[in-house]
Amino acid sequence: MAASARVAYLARRASDYGVQTGSVKVNLAQVRDRKQKVVERFRNGAEQVLETTANLDVIHGEASFIDAGTVKVEGAGSETLRLRAEKIFINTGAKPVIPPIAGLNRVPSLDSTSIMELDALPKHLLIVGGGYIAIEFGQMFRRYGSQVTIIERGELLLAREDSDVAEEVYKILREDGIDVRLKTSASRVEANEQGEIQLTVSGDGGDPAVKGSHLLIATGRRPNADHLNLGAAGVKIDEKGYVKVNERLETNVPGIYAIGDIKPGPAFTHISYDDFRIVQTNLLQNGNASIDGRLEPYTIFMDPQLGRVGLTEKEARAQRRSIRVAKLPMAHVAKAIQFGETRGFMKAIVDADTNQVLGCAILGMEGGEVMTVLQVAMMGKLPYTVIRDGIFAHPTLAESLNNLFMAMDAQGLGEKK
Ligand SMILES: Cc1cc2nc3c(=O)[nH]c(=O)nc-3n(C[C@H](O)[C@H](O)[C@H](O)COP(=O)(O)OP(=O)(O)OC[C@H]3O[C@@H](n4cnc5c(N)ncnc54)[C@H](O)[C@@H]3O)c2cc1C
Repeated sequence: MAASARVAYLARRASDYGVQTGSVKVNLAQVRDRKQKVVERFRNGAEQVLETTANLDVIHGEASFIDAGTVKVEGAGSETLRLRAEKIFINTGAKPVIPPIAGLNRVPSLDSTSIMELDALPKHLLIVGGGYIAIEFGQMFRRYGSQVTIIERGELLLAREDSDVAEEVYKILREDGIDVRLKTSASRVEANEQGEIQLTVSGDGGDPAVKGSHLLIATGRRPNADHLNLGAAGVKIDEKGYVKVNERLETNVPGIYAIGDIKPGPAFTHISYDDFRIVQTNLLQNGNASIDGRLEPYTIFMDPQLGRVGLTEKEARAQRRSIRVAKLPMAHVAKAIQFGETRGFMKAIVDADTNQVLGCAILGMEGGEVMTVLQVAMMGKLPYTVIRDGIFAHPTLAESLNNLFMAMDAQGLGEKK
């Protein structure tokens, strides 16, 4: 869906590149069908692997614990199944949080799953929340042609990121024509006489009534543990409902493990997959793998992308580390200039004692890929000088990592602070 939005964006900007197009219109039903085909291709591939694996049964139904060694599965046929096992892996993921907004149960609203099934374009999409789901869908639907308003109660979007990163994201969304209202809380929602959805908001001193045709709730996700009956197994959860695990992903009950979004920590597909690798190494290969100290990269698929790995500047400073900060605007990146995609910047945090890269935020064209280059440097514990002086092909985005670190040295930021 983001790919379709990007094509619409570039088509509208075609004349910047000397290319003539007609007026640009997006057919959301076709976008959805294309998305569905991509999803089905991946899903069918995964299902086929499971079906052809010896000694593996896939049962479609809802599982819950009876005791620490037994689960029951309902909805998998006429009878409830009872399954006993020496090892049980809880891998039930997360689901959207429903925020306490009065009237929410009386108006139609969308979440991150149902919004992907719309086949007609919302005239005006209201989004409550300012995290990555709000940003990604907000920008997509703006590019498809909807009017979009994002309501976020915090001072900045993407609360975990450095403020310069969050401010640049805000600027990009505003440039794209999205109305972003920060420091604004939604307390009530109703359908007004014109059939519009009307949110009552407060905080920023702006209009307290925000009206739109559709409402997306994007206020975070919570663990999918409600129906698991974890108490029967004695499995402990934390104050937010996540299943507690040790560094080998075992719960407090021996033999029961939790992997993926159901446990605390970053909720991403590649983290869920690495969780699998950890239990596989420990249980099938007699290894000693742990989640401690692993790098946990992620990319926010706005456009331009935000690729992130390791420490942010504020995290590094909170840890009282001696750091240096390298920053390079994308407007100084040759490839970005050539492609007319100069929004954003590259930022890296360097340990002033070891010269190793501690983390980076690449908000720019293919930010996820450029971040991965620095992640590999982090995995190899390379000093930043190796990247500063490395030969990278011209013109690539990666070659600008030379300039990123040269700029840090040139600005006299080489000294510890
Ligand atoms: C809109 C959106 C965009 C995202 N984009 C990205 C991205 O770009 N990159 C990325 O890395 N991650 C992304 N994520 C996060 C990613 O989807 C999750 O981190 C990942 O799917 C977690 O995998 P999991 O194995 O823990 O659980 P899931 O993939 O959530 O799978 C859990 C499964 O368990 C089933 N289940 C739940 N309870 C029971 C029960 N009692 N009995 C039987 N089955 C049960 C559920 O139906 C589900 O099929 C995104 C998430 C959302 C919502």
